[in-house]
Amino acid sequence: MEKSKVYFTDFRTGLGVSLTVKLQKLIRMAGIGTIDMDNKFVAIKMHFGELGNLAYLRPNYAKAVADVIKENGGLPFLTDCNTLYPGSRKHALEHMDCANINGFNTVTTGCQIIIADGLRGTDDIIVPVPNGEYCKEAYIGRAVMDADIFISLTHFKGHEAAGFGGAIKNIGMGCGSRAGKMQQHQSGHPHVITDKCKGCRRCSKECGSDAISYEGKKAWIDPAKCKGCGRCIGACAFDAIRNDNWDARKKDGRVYCRCHQRKTELPYQSDNRRIT
Ligand code: SF4
Ligand code: SF4
Repeated sequence: MEKSKVYFTDFRTGLGVSLTVKLQKLIRMAGIGTIDMDNKFVAIKMHFGELGNLAYLRPNYAKAVADVIKENGGLPFLTDCNTLYPGSRKHALEHMDCANINGFNTVTTGCQIIIADGLRGTDDIIVPVPNGEYCKEAYIGRAVMDADIFISLTHFKGHEAAGFGGAIKNIGMGCGSRAGKMQQHQSGHPHVITDKCKGCRRCSKECGSDAISYEGKKAWIDPAKCKGCGRCIGACAFDAIRNDNWDARKKDGRVYCRCHQRKTELPYQSDNRRIT
């Protein structure tokens, strides 16, 4: 593959030239104007931050990019997919509230927010990955795939598992629906935190694999039946189902996804009673 040309700038500014103006200059230099955006949907993939943290790009930067897209005739929207973990972005309502509280709205950014994988993280499109070593198909949030043009507006960060998080993680993990994220964390299945489980049985209604049963009033996930779609995580209003990916590293140090597990006869069998 041909190496990409990388354009970058520093944080120094002169009188009357803000960082957002510098960002616009940078993306114009990088050739955003050469993309035919006329009346096309342009997805700006972001991370809106979790509630209470400041580790995300300020909305001003999103507006700077959205304004350039509009100048070029495009129809920008901000997007991200729901999280696998219970935080402040696990379904679309929470996610949009979180984005709003962190400052992302139509006034500050000049465009709408669409949560790409829908209300419960289940609205996805299966995208073939013909040369994928572990996975031959990816589950991507529908709004990302429905867009004509995709721009990754990424913040750089340290990451406890990957070392660093940047554009590749913003796209590769961030555009995955709940099923897509489950696939990437597939070395573990979700488990029930019994103390939090209220026995409402909503999760079993969501599960298409008949993997959830009840012992007393507490849900239990049978790892032998669980397909790892993650629907139950979004279904639980009490944050009682989690995927902690605790067995992500196999003995030989490699991480295996579900597709690979199928090939190798489930090298890892989660015991979801282990964490309660
Ligand atoms: S949806 Fe949550 S609280 Fe309800 S039974 Fe399932 S795990 Fe328990
Ligand atoms: S992850 Fe999917 S298959 Fe597994 S228990 Fe939850 S809903 Fe069922």
